[in-house]
Amino acid sequence: MFRIKFRVKFIQVLGLLAASTFLLTVSAIAGEPRGCVAQTQTDDGQWWRETRSIMGTEIQVELWHEEKEEACAAIRAVMKEMNRIDSLMSTYIESSALSHLNNNAATRSVWVGKELFTLIETSLKFSELTEGAFDITYASVGRFYDYREGRIPDDETIARGIQVINYRYIQMRARDYSISYKVDGVYIDLGGIAKGYAVDRGIEILKGRGIKQGMVGAGGDSRIIGDRRGEPWVVGIRDPRNESEMIAVLPLMNVSVSTSGDYERFFEKEGVRYHHIIDPQTGDSAREVRSVTILGEQATRTDALSTSVFVMGVERGLKLINELQDVDAIIVDGDGQLHYSDSLLELTASVH
Ligand code: AMP
Ligand code: MG
Repeated sequence: MFRIKFRVKFIQVLGLLAASTFLLTVSAIAGEPRGCVAQTQTDDGQWWRETRSIMGTEIQVELWHEEKEEACAAIRAVMKEMNRIDSLMSTYIESSALSHLNNNAATRSVWVGKELFTLIETSLKFSELTEGAFDITYASVGRFYDYREGRIPDDETIARGIQVINYRYIQMRARDYSISYKVDGVYIDLGGIAKGYAVDRGIEILKGRGIKQGMVGAGGDSRIIGDRRGEPWVVGIRDPRNESEMIAVLPLMNVSVSTSGDYERFFEKEGVRYHHIIDPQTGDSAREVRSVTILGEQATRTDALSTSVFVMGVERGLKLINELQDVDAIIVDGDGQLHYSDSLLELTASVH
């Protein structure tokens, strides 16, 4: 079981960390050179790293390899996959399959292909699991917010939109991978799960090329395979109200980490913070917590659950995570207090 394995690793790597001053976070390094570059060199290989802006976020790939050509080709292959997923699933790209679906599914059944169909199906399972906290039709209202321009939809738009936030309005037809919307005005957006999915795809590509140690990150979602040459990877979770401070530093290996925060895309109006995670019940930003970090095996799952728990809040969110056997959570609440899922709590107690 992942939880047991994860706990053992966690304790082991804490010991390793104490014996070393090595510290590296998976967050992007500001101003770092573009292109595929070598990080550290030893006799038997190097760490290679590249960062690019794709899917409206920073994509990072880092891996250990002996040879520059193969290392950089592997990184390029991951970047190419990110672009492919973006052109399929972005609502910002007019020609994407998802835009095509949103534009037509209220009037007819639309073929979306197996991959998009499957990810939407997975999203619906998370809606069931989270009692509707995770709902890709949040965008029926969410699309009327403009975080760059600081625009809030008017009351009528919100009231009308909430009526059609309901994942049950998505009609799935598995036999030919097509989808229709049961009512007018439904609009879906995969922003709460697609980055995690893209990270998992990226990791599959690295594994397929024989890479044993590496990391793929997309904004708040990262997945690590292996360790860092006998050291743990060190993942920093930032303070939601102070970009340069860490509230927790976790030594980890073979893990996915997703953080959802109210500081990623937001604006403030009359003292109220409007940000990109929407409570499907209200059509307004969820405001009980400031950030949620989920640890688990696969990034698709940690991504969807970080968004879900953000909406659910401390009590309901931790209850869900404690019931699930394969994930852990760290929540920063509205007062800046930290909350851990049970097995992380036990772990911290056993380490001190
Ligand atoms: P994350 O940073 O993974 O929490 O993803 C945030 C993104 O998830 C937002 O930018 C939206 O695209 C999407 N989103 C917002 N609210 C919800 C919700 N209630 N259910 C599913 N996706 C959501
Ligand atoms: Mg998420």
